Amino acid sequence: MELTRQTLHDLSKLQTNSHPILSAYLNVDPATGNLVSYPVVFRDRVRALAATLQDEAERAALEREAQRVLRFLEHDFVRTGKGLAIFSAEPAGLWEVQQLLAPVPNLVYLNREPVLGPLVRVAEDLERTAVLLVDKEHARLYTLRLGEIEDQSAIFDEVPGKHSQGSWSRGMSFPAMSQGGLAQPGSHGLGGGSRGGVEYDRHIEYHVREHMKHALSRLDLFARGRPFGRLILGGPQEALADFRQVLPPQLAQRVIGTLTLSLEAPAEEVRLAALEMARRWEQEDEERRVRELLEGAALGGRAVVGWTPTLQALQFGKVWRLLVAEGFAAPCFECPQCGYLSATEGACPACDRPLTEVQDGVSHAIVLALRQDGDIEVVAEHAAAVLRDHGGIGAIVRF
Ligand SMILES: [Zn+2]
Repeated sequence: MELTRQTLHDLSKLQTNSHPILSAYLNVDPATGNLVSYPVVFRDRVRALAATLQDEAERAALEREAQRVLRFLEHDFVRTGKGLAIFSAEPAGLWEVQQLLAPVPNLVYLNREPVLGPLVRVAEDLERTAVLLVDKEHARLYTLRLGEIEDQSAIFDEVPGKHSQGSWSRGMSFPAMSQGGLAQPGSHGLGGGSRGGVEYDRHIEYHVREHMKHALSRLDLFARGRPFGRLILGGPQEALADFRQVLPPQLAQRVIGTLTLSLEAPAEEVRLAALEMARRWEQEDEERRVRELLEGAALGGRAVVGWTPTLQALQFGKVWRLLVAEGFAAPCFECPQCGYLSATEGACPACDRPLTEVQDGVSHAIVLALRQDGDIEVVAEHAAAVLRDHGGIGAIVRF
């Protein structure tokens, strides 16, 4: 099953009636992964975690869940991805396995809730970008994921009258082609129509519009099987202007930029140009979101920044989007009676019970936000530096 943002929301809602959950992440990528077998790596991580546990019952629970995961790794696991995430709590009947297209670091946690931080990062990396190059007769479509071209397809709709020997048939289209072998659509001279005349021009216009619609329907078909969040357009300016006229608003709002590329450009050139554009856009988008957060917080009411105000917003179930600077960590304490959350130790202000420390406070914040159907954004680079100056974490809240 494909990892989506919905998967994260579903996983965050796993409940175990106080049985601890083992969350295990393993890099199973043959290219960048472990030199020793996964069970050995897993066993090592479990041993390191066991050494930090004070409670006898917790150590026993870790051992029980670890044995279960080991049985799976040794007997049932058939690798299909580069990363593996497992969530296990045997007494609660909880068992979830996610094979991931991207590698993850080797990590093991024992917690009362699933630890989803590493998965959030992978889900962000898995977001697709579609690239559509279009001129008046051709269209080329690519989807990019994890820096690679995932799929590609080409369309050719002959525009009658545009060619000296133009036939009046149209709608010839190349079937979707597999990765690697992108056929050239023949050598059709793109010289202007020599026959001219208003009647012909109108005819050409009609066929160009039909071609644009055809390209759009192919894009739509693609999006159903391979949903994408970002769209890059490319091709001659005039054709792009035509194409924008048929582009529905829900697609237009996903356009992150326009590339000046020939339809004949090799796939590798398209890939590099699109990746660079997506990378830059991603950075700008993160910076924009952090700016939005800080502005909302400055105005008051719309957003909060800093660990304590963020914990308060999470507690009231009001988080619409949680923004975390990469690498941010902070302690978290909870009232076992009423669930009050605090950044510092002490007694609960509501029921006076002593607060207990929550293992991995940021991970807890992520799960709480997901359970509130909040969006999670882990920001990097410049956006992270700006957010760190304001406490490293913040939330845009629901009214
Ligand atoms: Zn309390």
